[in-house]
Amino acid sequence: MNYCKVFLKPKKEESLMRFHPWVFSGAIQSMDSKPAEGDLVEVYGHANQFLGVGHYQIGSISVRILSFTQRIIDASYWEERITAAYNLRKALHLDNAPHNDTFRLIHGEGDFLPGLIIDVYAHTAVMQAHSIGMHHSREAITQAIVQVMGDKIKNVYYKSEGTLPFKANLGTQDGYLYGGEVEDVAVENDLKFYVDWLKGQKTGFFIDQRDNRDLIERYSKGRSVLNMFCYTGGFSFYAMRGGAEVVHSVDSSAKAIALTNRNVELNFPEDTRHEAFADDAFKYLENMGDKYDLIVLDPPAFAKHRDALRNALQGYRKLNAVAFKKIKPGGILFTFSCSQVVTKENFRLAVFSAAAQSGRKVRILHQLTQPADHPVSIYHPEGEYLKGLVVYVE
Ligand code: SAH
Repeated sequence: MNYCKVFLKPKKEESLMRFHPWVFSGAIQSMDSKPAEGDLVEVYGHANQFLGVGHYQIGSISVRILSFTQRIIDASYWEERITAAYNLRKALHLDNAPHNDTFRLIHGEGDFLPGLIIDVYAHTAVMQAHSIGMHHSREAITQAIVQVMGDKIKNVYYKSEGTLPFKANLGTQDGYLYGGEVEDVAVENDLKFYVDWLKGQKTGFFIDQRDNRDLIERYSKGRSVLNMFCYTGGFSFYAMRGGAEVVHSVDSSAKAIALTNRNVELNFPEDTRHEAFADDAFKYLENMGDKYDLIVLDPPAFAKHRDALRNALQGYRKLNAVAFKKIKPGGILFTFSCSQVVTKENFRLAVFSAAAQSGRKVRILHQLTQPADHPVSIYHPEGEYLKGLVVYVE
């Protein structure tokens, strides 16, 4: 196959030679023809050495590299990549029904497939394309998933309306690319939950908090727990299994609260320890009094772009300040940021300012991140996005 050739400016090959998978638009010197968005292109250094093959797109990232060796991107390529990713999840004991059938199969650059996310819920794979090249490859990827995972997978749902650049005007529609059977209960660490990949946020569930939920279970016994920004209640059902005295789940989305209630009912029918409230976080925190001694703060990304960083850090500071003011002595706070542009150091600084403002004695017990099925390629440190601190407040 003849892929269009992209030539880089002098010295711009260095990051690719260190296996960083992005070519920025400013690095390009010339092209031997004009690729369409989503086309496969070959990237060459100015001395004509081959550097990689990847998907072309108009924007600040012009090429996302799929392979650093010269090859055709065909069915065997997709199968190879998906097999490697699936083998890793099996080695991590995540494909472990009936105890666990929920995991991230493909984490973009962390699985050497920039622009692609695939989450697995029981027998359904939910695919999300973040690049036009991945959008064009969706059928080939679906075939590879089915080929590699066999009858484990009965449905592949494509959910990219919200993640593809809208300027590309692809007119894409979410829907099943394979199967279509309605099955909506998945299992994480022996806890069941309904997942709504059709209308839910992201792919339907926040798999990235699995290990951190595990940790909350260990600290919940006898505590009064507030799960703020609960979405579908993940942290709440772990806290209940851990023996919490009461668990209150709060989210501004009424739909999320309805699903939280159903999920709690699924695992702990008629258990009166749990209550859920649809409310704004700041309003609830201001009015809640001092009844909680375990608080989870897992807000949505406050900064989606670098320009929003300052405001985001203010937001994290303010949010945590209220928690520090209100949490009971001897309380434990789980606090998170999932903004990619907020570094570990920045986040810690925001929590530090909030703690200092409260004047309380605060110690860090754990420093948390994303779980192993959200791996970070050592060549692409930007892939580390989830940061959390567990602190003890006297
Ligand atoms: N902790 C969750 C994921 C949280 S995602 C889990 O483990 O699954 C962030 C959530 O914050 C979303 O459900 C969103 O509806 C909610 N949210 C956004 N803004 C909010 C606000 N101002 N007050 C309360 N909840 C908010």
